[in-house]
Amino acid sequence: MNKLKWWQGEWYERQRINEAAAELAAVDVIADSQGQQLRRLFELDRDQGREIARLQAATGVLMEFLVESKVVEEGALRARLDSAFAALDPQQPTSPAAQGERTGRGGPAAPPQRQVTCPVCGRQVALRNTFVTVSGEVCDQCYYAAQGET
Ligand SMILES: [Zn+2]
Repeated sequence: MNKLKWWQGEWYERQRINEAAAELAAVDVIADSQGQQLRRLFELDRDQGREIARLQAATGVLMEFLVESKVVEEGALRARLDSAFAALDPQQPTSPAAQGERTGRGGPAAPPQRQVTCPVCGRQVALRNTFVTVSGEVCDQCYYAAQGET
């Protein structure tokens, strides 16, 4: 196997995971209907992984060609890709520069942070600042306050 390029790592690893999952399914240890659903999911995931690997190979060839023919500089290409990947991941805080670039290009805006109302204090908080408890999604302040009481 060729040495992986920096833009290949993640998905090729994923492909190996998918192959392992396919082998696992082939062992036929999963027999009941729930298992069959799971196996279908594995198969779907494997097929998608294959498709992604093809797309990635095509993209890799294109990028390599662009860099080799000096159309673009590798560092600049990498920086662009990094900011594009960061924009795809809502968990990752994006730099103001990257955000300006995104809105400037008129691309899709990031989905608004889902807000929930804390059932304890009634505050509106971002979903990621909550804890799931028996009384629902409680804000972190109430959660830690309750932890202190016990
Ligand atoms: Zn609260």
